[in-house]
Amino acid sequence: MRGYRAPRAFDGERFLPGGALVLVEGRTIVGVEPATTAVPDGCPVTDVPDGTLLPGLIDTHVHLCGDGGPQALEQIPELDSGQLDAIITAAERETLRAGVTTVRDLGDHRGTVLDRAGRAGERPTVVAAGPPLTSPGGHCWSMGGETTGVDALRRAVRERAERGAGVVKVMASGGVLTPGTDLTACQFTLEELRAVVDEAHRLGLPVTAHAHGLAAVERSVAAGVDGIEHCSCLTGSGVHLPAGLGAALAAAGIDVCPTVGFLPGVDPPPHVRARMAAVGATIEDHLPHVAALHRAGVALLAGTDGGIGPAKRHGQVAYAVADLVTACGVPLAEALTAATARSARACGLGERTGRLAAGYDADLLVADGDVTVDVSGLQRPRVVVARGREVRL
Ligand SMILES: [Zn+2]
Repeated sequence: MRGYRAPRAFDGERFLPGGALVLVEGRTIVGVEPATTAVPDGCPVTDVPDGTLLPGLIDTHVHLCGDGGPQALEQIPELDSGQLDAIITAAERETLRAGVTTVRDLGDHRGTVLDRAGRAGERPTVVAAGPPLTSPGGHCWSMGGETTGVDALRRAVRERAERGAGVVKVMASGGVLTPGTDLTACQFTLEELRAVVDEAHRLGLPVTAHAHGLAAVERSVAAGVDGIEHCSCLTGSGVHLPAGLGAALAAAGIDVCPTVGFLPGVDPPPHVRARMAAVGATIEDHLPHVAALHRAGVALLAGTDGGIGPAKRHGQVAYAVADLVTACGVPLAEALTAATARSARACGLGERTGRLAAGYDADLLVADGDVTVDVSGLQRPRVVVARGREVRL
């Protein structure tokens, strides 16, 4: 057994007054005690008197196949399997070193991440969707998930389940990084989306829908999805959150992952700005829109879209939490829940990680300083433990 102690601690839903001593045996948390508790005999303790102890962070939206460079997604089809494997390995390493111990991969290339998901070693826990379901020529078509029609979509969902997917990702609208797709148009009919949801739920899998356009967000809600990625609510003339949509998302229990978490000082590439301008919006519209979703009671997740470009590198959940707090008005404890316990539930791992609690995986982060005073301390991990193993930082 060994212990980790800090005078401040967050357990996945709330701050624990006086901090905590977390006891770990093998890969599991066996006790969460007040920081003042006497340490059991012979139990080594890692003490961080100027740190904050939390569950390891969870990123609910990453692309491990993306190297975070300017051509991150565009280059993928040109890579051989060795190059792709090296990129995924580096992405996992960068993720863990940032204190992110679990990721949900929502943009796999032909199942590469999916097929690696169970591998042992020093890597985050990976929940993978496989290639996102998309219409022919639709958003991220080159990832290998082009499918159309109710029967083929049902079949594609079954294939993913058989291959070990933990979630189904469907591209309900076009996307910024796929030229020729329409951000504001729906890629699937309501009947098709309902078939995806029905088949996935029959197999015990949640469905999350990529939706930039307002019409795609509304159709995804009608189809009964479990989560919505981006949820940008774009129309041809900017961002529009209709009265009642936020409440409908909240009432349906749909988790919205708005993919915030922008690396400060990194400008988005000009073609991204141009794509947004073409629908009457700017990138800067997004954070106030997320604030409005929050005020409407929507449950947010702190996924980042990590790996897709220089402003979106791997392991940036700490920046997403900071964006939620400083730019979207989300209280700190709720923003941290969005990066821990709620994210774990969205990954189907709510009984396994995302909490400081006995019986949970020993996924831990000790952040620098008092995060209740300075949330940027999350960006400076002091200790990271993944399934009981301390990560070399
Ligand atoms: Zn994405």
